[in-house]
Amino acid sequence: MPTKLIIGENSVIENQKLLSGLGKSCLIVTGKNSARACGALDDVITALDGQKISYTIFDEVTQNPHLSTCVKASQVAKSFGAQFILGIGGGSPQDAAKAIAVLAANEIAPSDLYKGGFKSPSLPVALVGTTSGTGSEVTQFAVITDDEGKKHSILTPDGFAAIAFGDPRYTASVSAKFTVSTALDAIAHLIEGYFNKKADSTSDLFALEGIRLLCDNIDSIYGKAPADITLDQRTQLYLASIYGGIVIAQTGTCYCHSLGYFLTEEHDIPHGIACAVYLPYYIARGVHYMPERATKLATEIGMSMEDLSALISSTTDFEDMSVSEQKIESIANWYIGSGNYKNSPGDFDAKEAAVILRELFSTK
Ligand code: NAP
Ligand code: FE
Repeated sequence: MPTKLIIGENSVIENQKLLSGLGKSCLIVTGKNSARACGALDDVITALDGQKISYTIFDEVTQNPHLSTCVKASQVAKSFGAQFILGIGGGSPQDAAKAIAVLAANEIAPSDLYKGGFKSPSLPVALVGTTSGTGSEVTQFAVITDDEGKKHSILTPDGFAAIAFGDPRYTASVSAKFTVSTALDAIAHLIEGYFNKKADSTSDLFALEGIRLLCDNIDSIYGKAPADITLDQRTQLYLASIYGGIVIAQTGTCYCHSLGYFLTEEHDIPHGIACAVYLPYYIARGVHYMPERATKLATEIGMSMEDLSALISSTTDFEDMSVSEQKIESIANWYIGSGNYKNSPGDFDAKEAAVILRELFSTK
């Protein structure tokens, strides 16, 4: 994981010198409000001013960022002469920043972003996280929605940010509901990365500690007001999300993520919840195919796998919905041959995916 990662209060301002190594001008990429509201944008501007780095701001990134938005931002980056891209936000502005960095450095048709094999390296990227979920700060992935409304990871060989800053104070303004939903994304990364054919002893260290941190906190933040979540808890949640990112940078995600995307694309369900609805099935699969790993996890977190599944289900706000048989077949088949299916414990296939989908949703 080549990203220089600095976590702690005031980390942006105190480590501003690092930014001067990336260039003399930058495009700041954010969503509409939160980067400003949580104080991260002000800190970044103070840091850039301190280093005499010129900047312009692109604040049009929406949730589940669109390819067309990234193309528009890359044109702004080019005309401004940005030498690096600085993304502030949750996974959406951070992922957009990575995609913009590719598009600003390469004359390619927008849809070629998903094909990889770019002539020029991306512009350097710095990231400032404001949610505790995706761990995008430390992954090489950028999930960008295409013109048909489908979410795909872009394939960039140098997709890791050069520098990532994490200041858990920025996450203090995240509502309790969204804090839980992003924590579910982090726990999905950690569990999909732990019960994973690519897991190794190093990724396990991060996975076990991240799952432990989330199990210690997720129950007590569910249903709370944001002000009642302490900075200490915010810090633990943020660390867990970073550990999840470090894990999936090595292992990739598994079938919970692939089967979750359509819930966000078509039913507007937040990404974390969309993945977490599959976790009880996934954990049971881990217990079946990787029993030693399950025993080790239970010992480390002091909780049986049944209790872990129950904890996740009790915080996953999800109402039954109806999905057509045709849709079930197409979702199940969409990911055949993908790493997400292959890395899942056992030999996961479309038939098994369809069984889970039919069990979870009413069919029409
Ligand atoms: P997000 O989509 O970045 O943000 C969701 C909402 O939260 C936005 O309305 C945003 O407002 C708001 N928000 C962000 N920070 C806030 C703060 N500090 N206080 C109050 N509100 C805040 O959410 P996310 O869950 O972090 O990211 C999800 C995206 O990441 C999905 O597209 C998912 O597919 C992707 N993802 C990427 C990876 C990876 O490795 N790259 C891994 C998992 C998921 P503004 O719009 O005003 O900013
Ligand atoms: Fe995720």
